[in-house]
Amino acid sequence: MVVATNLGFPRMGAHRELKRLVENFWAGKIDENALLSGAKKNREEHWSLQKDAGLDHIPSNDFSFYDQVVDHSYAFGVIPARYKNLKQGLETYFAMCRGLQKSGIDVAACEMKKWFDTNYHYIVPEFESDQQFTLNSTKIINEYNEAKAIGIQTRPVILGPVSYLLLGKPARGSPQDFEPIQLLNKLLPLYEELLCKLADAGAIWIQIDEPCLILDQPSTLKDKYATAYNALTKVSPKLKILIATYFERIGTNIDFIIDTPINAIHIDLVRAPGQLEPILKCLPATVSLSLGLINGRNIWTANLDAALAEAQKAVTALGSERVFIAPSCSLLHTPHSVQNEKKMDAEMLCWLSFAVEKIKELVIISKALNNGVESVQTELDVNRKSIQSRKTSTRIHNPNVQKKMKSLTPDMFKRKTPFRERQQKQKQKLGLPLFPTTTVGSFPQTKEVRSIRAKLKRGDVNVAQYDEFMNKEIEKCIRFQEGIDMDVLVHGEFERNDMVEFFGENLQGYVHSENGWVQSYGSRCTKPPIIFGDVSRPKPMTVEVIKYAQTLTKKLVKGMLTGPVTMLQWSFVRDDQPRKDTTFQLALAILEEVQDLEAGGISVIQIDEPAIREGLPLRKEDWNEYLKWAVDAFLLSSTGVDCSTQIHTHMCYSDFNDIIEAIQRLDADVITIENSRSDLKLLNAFEKHEYTNEIGPGLYDIHSPRVPSTEELKSRLQAILKYIPKNLLWVNPDCGLKTRGWPEVEAALKNLTDVAKEFRAAE
Ligand code: GLN
Ligand code: ZN
Repeated sequence: MVVATNLGFPRMGAHRELKRLVENFWAGKIDENALLSGAKKNREEHWSLQKDAGLDHIPSNDFSFYDQVVDHSYAFGVIPARYKNLKQGLETYFAMCRGLQKSGIDVAACEMKKWFDTNYHYIVPEFESDQQFTLNSTKIINEYNEAKAIGIQTRPVILGPVSYLLLGKPARGSPQDFEPIQLLNKLLPLYEELLCKLADAGAIWIQIDEPCLILDQPSTLKDKYATAYNALTKVSPKLKILIATYFERIGTNIDFIIDTPINAIHIDLVRAPGQLEPILKCLPATVSLSLGLINGRNIWTANLDAALAEAQKAVTALGSERVFIAPSCSLLHTPHSVQNEKKMDAEMLCWLSFAVEKIKELVIISKALNNGVESVQTELDVNRKSIQSRKTSTRIHNPNVQKKMKSLTPDMFKRKTPFRERQQKQKQKLGLPLFPTTTVGSFPQTKEVRSIRAKLKRGDVNVAQYDEFMNKEIEKCIRFQEGIDMDVLVHGEFERNDMVEFFGENLQGYVHSENGWVQSYGSRCTKPPIIFGDVSRPKPMTVEVIKYAQTLTKKLVKGMLTGPVTMLQWSFVRDDQPRKDTTFQLALAILEEVQDLEAGGISVIQIDEPAIREGLPLRKEDWNEYLKWAVDAFLLSSTGVDCSTQIHTHMCYSDFNDIIEAIQRLDADVITIENSRSDLKLLNAFEKHEYTNEIGPGLYDIHSPRVPSTEELKSRLQAILKYIPKNLLWVNPDCGLKTRGWPEVEAALKNLTDVAKEFRAAE
């Protein structure tokens, strides 16, 4: 029998109940008992739902109050010394996640990092070179028992020891040559103890996630994986061990584990369908294969016939006893259920599949394999209809966009004149001084600003009232910037809730869910817009506002747009055409906006691409291909302007060292970057590669309310001048100011423009 399995279920609940629960606990509105019993209810609901759907392997320990990695750290006693004086239990746990400030106590949170190439963030474990591990929590066993008590046999999920150590970092002050992976032999006995307890409790299958197996891994790690899995498979003859990989191909790293006596391996066949055949060929007869066929990273109804055909290949090669049907990765990265979308039309709804629906898809595939396709004929027919309607719908396919895509020519991907000439022309036209000052775009999103946007959505104010408010806000913003002698002004982005959502709402080809929330970190969720069809721009999106802002002042006002790669990266993306094509469509829409802004008299236009680096593939050998089309998309959106029009871009959260050539190829006239938290190391890259265009390295960190003094800004600018020649240098904060309050923004920017003026005067 083929079994239907799941690797993890989204935690938040149909209506983000877990978010409310945890936030109410933090706010002191509910006590620990209420928190724990609410969480239990959440888990039980998710287990029952999966069981009722007919799933054979249901995950447990996929629940977390914050993050599965920090759960692990807490469970193994990997608790940094600064938390040692806190109360054991939730106080310590949440302090690691989000810091703790109360009478006499002030500890910062642990570092947070992106989980592979997802938008989920995990808490980075900190290991001492003499780290002691202790089994500090019985969460894993408790949750297993809890499910068992309601009659559900679960498959506990544990992060594997090798990936756990690799995802961590040495604690501050560790010896230079210490690497956490050296702790493996010390850590393994705790995993053994844990597995032993799970076996005693009655567990049969254990899912051990080793996502690092899909990364470029040095061959020296082979030993580590072998040690780990030779040990863990010996713990109990009752236990069966599944190693889960996801987000990419395992490639030759399969050699690291294939010789150990594991019982099954999970592979991601959505991201890397090509790996099925080679793995079928090399799999030992004792190992089962879990097929990641249903996309855990996207929201489209699966093509069940296609998935079934893949699964059939595995069944033919291995026999049905050795095949598991699974999502590509944990469903943590998909929203809860389509059933909560009340405003979407029936056609759109049938194209979508969130976690609950994906579970059903898994079960249909396994039933078809076990009982014949006739047994699920109705379900398959419904599925075929949905796939067919998406293939042919006129809402998706826009002949106009297709025509434009076919008529792209090479000259649409480059500026007509080289940078040096453009720089001259722009100097003449824009008349900017040395050390020109600007900001990255957004100004404080006050309560009033957010509330009026919400009121407009609800219909509590009309468009005229809204516009009046916004215009006043913009005027205030412009007057302030004029008052401090800022050189290139912005309108403040008050009309934007989010830099991607705003444009998504104004473009065709996008749809917005009501409840499509996905966990980003802790209780924080995002609701990515969905690109379902060909993207086009029905009408100008920002031209009116920017032109209005420009009427208020003689100074230059900068147009503000979000770039094509960031639009793609922060949305759910259609899967029926290459990502590159979707990005080019976005680029064409943005290009139209750029040209309209230019025609409207705007000579400085910024196209933000903060997400260009996070789009990098997990395997280095795939980087060039991605960077080629990502940069091309930016060029397509930004080069169709006169040489005297100045194109800016902005990037953040990046270590640019390894993509500096791509940044150069963007050929933006000015790039502003976040660098104030990285000790100027970043600028090294620009200097080393003799980056030729203008550049504004963030002069201060906007992520904290601190106001930098002029002294501080001066010495920083001085330091920057060691890397960047003064004729290329801009002066600006390191990111948008939307999360800040007005008083600190006013003070900080005043200091910033003062410092620029002082440097100018000294020339
Ligand atoms: N222009 C955007 C802003 O200022 C850029 C945001 C970002 O870099 N993430 O808010
Ligand atoms: Zn930024």
